[in-house]
Amino acid sequence: MCDSAAGLNFIIVGASVSGVATAIALKKSGHNVLVLEKDEQLGGAASGFNACARICPNGSKILLDWGLLEAETKAKAAPMPGFAFLKYNAGYTEGSEPDLLGENRWNEDLLFEARGGYIQFRHQDLMRILYDEAVRDSSCVSVLFGAEVVNIDCDACEVTLSSGEVHTADAIIGADGPSGIVRRILLEEEGDSLESDVQTGMALYSTIIPKALVYENGLAPWFYEFDDIGSALWVGPKRAAWIFPVGGENDLALTVYTPDSTQDSSWTEPAQMKLKDVMGECDIRLKRLAALAQDVTCVKIKNPHPLESWVSESGRVAVLGEAAHPFPPSGFHPYSIALEDAVFIGKIFSHTRDRDRVREFLAAFQEHREQRCSLIREADMSYVQASICEGEMHDQRDAGMRANHAAGRNAMEGDFQQMLEEVRIIFGYSASDDADEWWINWGRFKPTRLQNEDLDGTRLLPTFFSSITTVSTDEVVRPDVEYTMPHEKPIL
Ligand SMILES: Cc1cc2nc3c(=O)[nH]c(=O)nc-3n(C[C@H](O)[C@H](O)[C@H](O)COP(=O)(O)OP(=O)(O)OC[C@H]3O[C@@H](n4cnc5c(N)ncnc54)[C@H](O)[C@@H]3O)c2cc1C
Repeated sequence: MCDSAAGLNFIIVGASVSGVATAIALKKSGHNVLVLEKDEQLGGAASGFNACARICPNGSKILLDWGLLEAETKAKAAPMPGFAFLKYNAGYTEGSEPDLLGENRWNEDLLFEARGGYIQFRHQDLMRILYDEAVRDSSCVSVLFGAEVVNIDCDACEVTLSSGEVHTADAIIGADGPSGIVRRILLEEEGDSLESDVQTGMALYSTIIPKALVYENGLAPWFYEFDDIGSALWVGPKRAAWIFPVGGENDLALTVYTPDSTQDSSWTEPAQMKLKDVMGECDIRLKRLAALAQDVTCVKIKNPHPLESWVSESGRVAVLGEAAHPFPPSGFHPYSIALEDAVFIGKIFSHTRDRDRVREFLAAFQEHREQRCSLIREADMSYVQASICEGEMHDQRDAGMRANHAAGRNAMEGDFQQMLEEVRIIFGYSASDDADEWWINWGRFKPTRLQNEDLDGTRLLPTFFSSITTVSTDEVVRPDVEYTMPHEKPIL
C-alpha cells in the first residue's frame, strides 16, 4: 500500500475533515493510509455549496502545531472576535433599527490560554489545506476519489468498492459521516439502523453571500459597519440566523435554523426551497440578505441514535468524527472535534506497530473521547435551542441579555454563565496532551495475549485489564493496575 514497511496499514473511509486530518495524524506516526472517498473531487462534487468551517481555539491550535497556520493559510480565514445578539423577529419595516440584545466578545486571556484563535474558513479551502498536508512529501498517504465503499467485511478487515475492487488493511476507520456505511454497519451489529435517528423537526439552510454583493445592495451598514465584531446571532422564537464572516474575502456565511424541514438532504445537494421562503417573519435586513442567496444547502437536524460501541465486534473497524458522534450541522464545534479525534487517534497509534494491539487502541480511543464529544455535542445543541426558544425561556433570554448589555456586561453572563464557563474548558483542551496522558497512564501497560484471546469476538474495554504481565521495549509490566474509567476524570 505504501512505503512505510514498519507501519500498520489503515484504510480510512471518507476524505472530508475527519478522514484527511486522521490521515495526516497517522502519517506523522509512521503508518500507511489509504483514504477512499466516494465523491469525485475533494470537498464534495458540488463545491458551489461551499459554506463555513468554524474552527474554535481547540482546533486551530492543532492546525498551528501542524504548521498549517502560516501567513498564507491564515489569509484564507476570517477571525471571529465574538458575536452580537440581535432579534430575528423585530425590525420588520423599512427605516427601522435592528433590535440589539447584547454582545459576547471572546476574552483575550481565554484565547491566549487556549493557544489558538477562533477562525472561519470556507469548507473547500480548509479541505485543500488539509489535503495538501496529507499527501505532502510522502507516499504513505494515498487518496482515491470516486471510490465508494459498498461493503465491509469486519472480520477480514476488508472493504469492497462499487467498482468491485477489494482492499484489506490492519484497521479500517470510518470517517464517512453520519449516514455513512461504517456507522450503519456498527449500528446493525447492535441491532439498530440509521433509521433510528430521530428527526427534530428543524433544518439548517446554509449559504455564502459575497461581500461585494452585500455592499452593492446597500446592506453593508448592517452586516459590516454596524459594530466591530462582524458576527451576529439573530435569535427568535422558532427561527434563528447566524451570520459570520468567512474566508479571506470576509464574505458572509449565512445559516438559518428553521422548522421548514421537509427535505432530507446533504451538504452536496441544493436546497429545494428558496432561502427567502423559509425565513418566516423576520427583520427586513435579514430578508433582503436572504434574497441574495444563490447556492443554498439544506441539512436536517437529527438526534442521532447513540452508537454504543465505536468499534466493531471484530475489533478492527472503528468510527470517528461525524460517523461516531454526529453534531448538529453548522454548530460551533464539529470541525474542531473532528481535528481533535484525528490527533488523538494518530498520537496513540504512534506507540504501536503491533497488529495485535489494534483492538485495544481503538477501544481506548472511544473510552477516552466519547464523553467529551457527547458533552460538546450537547453544548452545540443547546446553542441552537437557545437561539430558537419560545415562551418563558425566550422572554427570559431577551430580558437577561438586555439587562447585561445596559450594564456594560457580556450578554451571556447570568443565564448563560454555564455556557461561558464550558467554553473555557472546551477551548483549553489539548488532544495531543490527552493522548500522551492515556499512553503514560494506561497504554504502555500491555494486556496479556491470553486476555486478548479471551476477548476475541467481544467488545474490548480497557476496564477489563486487571492483571498485566507482558512486556516489550517501551511498554512496562504493572500487575494489579487499577483502571480508572476516563469519565472519572475531569470532564471535557
Ligand atoms: C462536501 C461537504 C461540505 C460540507 N460543508 C460544511 C459547511 O460548509 N459547514 C458545516 O458546518 N459543515 C459542513 N460539512 C460537514 C462537516 O464536514 C462536518 O460537520 C465535520 O466537520 C466533520 O465531518 P466528518 O469529516 O467526520 O464527516 P463528513 O464531513 O460528513 O464527511 C464524510 C465523508 O465521507 C464520504 N463518504 C460517505 N460515504 C462513503 C462511502 N461509502 N465510501 C467512501 N466515502 C464515503 C463523504 O462523501 C464525505 O466526504 C460538510 C460536509 C461535506 C461532506
